[in-house]
Amino acid sequence: MDEFDVVIVGAGPAGATAAYLLAKAGLSVVVIERGQEPGSKNVSGGLIYAQIYDEIYPNFWEEAPVERAIAGHSIVFLGDTAVTAMGYRDEATAPPYNAFSVLRARFDPWLAAQAEEAGAMVMPGFTVDELVMEDGRVTGVKAGGDELPAKVVVIAEGTRSQLLKQAGLREDYDPKDVSIGIKEVIQLPEQTITDRFQCLTADEGAAYTLVGHTAGAEGGGFIYTNRDTLSLGVVVKIDSVYKSKRHPHEILDEFKSHPFVARLINGGEVVEYSAQTVHRGGFHLIPKMVGDGYVVAGSAARLLLNNVMTLRGMDVAVASAAAAAQAIIEAKEKDDFSAAGLASYERHFQATSVYKDMQTFKNAYPLLENKRLFHVYPDMVCDIMDDMFSVRAQPAKKGYRALRDRMKEHDVSLWELAKDMVQIGKGIAI
Ligand SMILES: Cc1cc2nc3c(=O)[nH]c(=O)nc-3n(C[C@H](O)[C@H](O)[C@H](O)COP(=O)(O)OP(=O)(O)OC[C@H]3O[C@@H](n4cnc5c(N)ncnc54)[C@H](O)[C@@H]3O)c2cc1C
Repeated sequence: MDEFDVVIVGAGPAGATAAYLLAKAGLSVVVIERGQEPGSKNVSGGLIYAQIYDEIYPNFWEEAPVERAIAGHSIVFLGDTAVTAMGYRDEATAPPYNAFSVLRARFDPWLAAQAEEAGAMVMPGFTVDELVMEDGRVTGVKAGGDELPAKVVVIAEGTRSQLLKQAGLREDYDPKDVSIGIKEVIQLPEQTITDRFQCLTADEGAAYTLVGHTAGAEGGGFIYTNRDTLSLGVVVKIDSVYKSKRHPHEILDEFKSHPFVARLINGGEVVEYSAQTVHRGGFHLIPKMVGDGYVVAGSAARLLLNNVMTLRGMDVAVASAAAAAQAIIEAKEKDDFSAAGLASYERHFQATSVYKDMQTFKNAYPLLENKRLFHVYPDMVCDIMDDMFSVRAQPAKKGYRALRDRMKEHDVSLWELAKDMVQIGKGIAI
């Protein structure tokens, strides 16, 4: 088979975007995707932050199958039966939008179509079985019994990235760095969603990040409004799922049983269920992104920004793919696809706004390890709010007194609270 300039493994946001930019620059590109359709194998909450997409696909929302422009973001602490919520809503959502909800089964085919229109060949329904290596250099891939030689291979196969492991190009994951995402798509009438989530129109939507009520597993939940469905799920650390002795679907059921969640999904029909691993994020997880004859982009490079309030994998994937494409175009000009020839990838990625955001929140990751944040504080905060808002026969308490009494009740020492405040401050505030 003729040699392509670039073979791309995976037609997720990273693979499709790399293909689009490289084909537009005139390189010969083939994308191999194991799903029968791009997006058919992908699991994601489906909230995309628009900025980087808009840079690459200007005004994409006019054509792309986005569900709703997200106008409201809330963070909700789920106590046993109560909730404490903090919300933000833009009452005049207009271009350039901040975020959209998408369904990957619709959105990924659109991204792949952009790559095809730019001249890339997209081959769904084929799995890349292994990388072809010669003298430690990647020279192509094996897929469907054939060998496809390439000057450079873009590894954009998502979070499991078996190819890198098989080729000895990455070490094994530590389970403590891996979470599992369990997701349902729940159908409800469009107007019910618009009313229930207080959206002004069916073009507008809301995003909820929820903390607590995950059956003893560390992590959080999400509910995002699509046009006539909700994307609902939990992302919880795999080792804590194991320790909780619960099945992933039991954790999701517990989350759904909270009265606040139950009310939002009331009357809905589950039309899709899926689960997939996702990395916890953090710079220490990022492997070598460049080698002789290959680059690694998106989730395959464990790129993710999670600061508890936002989980950003899809825009990070696209930013890394754009940086990789730029490096490959430069390598083509020099006809040097060695690690040295492709080395500008990391520099281009570091110059992106997405990377700078990852740096800003680099201290947020220890928060994801903090058990009190997930299992104690949601309930404690709700109890303190109860003290503030309830009128009882017993004398009322001022805030500090309520806090001290509730800390005692929830077995939290002043030292632990101070430590956690510093951690939260360093992670997301200061
Ligand atoms: C439950 C959950 C919720 C999430 N919520 C959000 C969210 O709301 N917002 C957000 O930004 N991020 C979210 N993420 C993270 C986000 O989904 C990923 O970061 C993003 O999809 C990464 O894009 P990618 O292109 O790198 O990889 P992927 O989207 O995983 O795409 C990889 C592609 O490669 C294909 N592939 C894999 N192996 C092979 C092979 N051997 N041969 C051929 N093809 C192959 C796959 O089928 C897939 O299409 C969530 C993740 C999970 C699990």
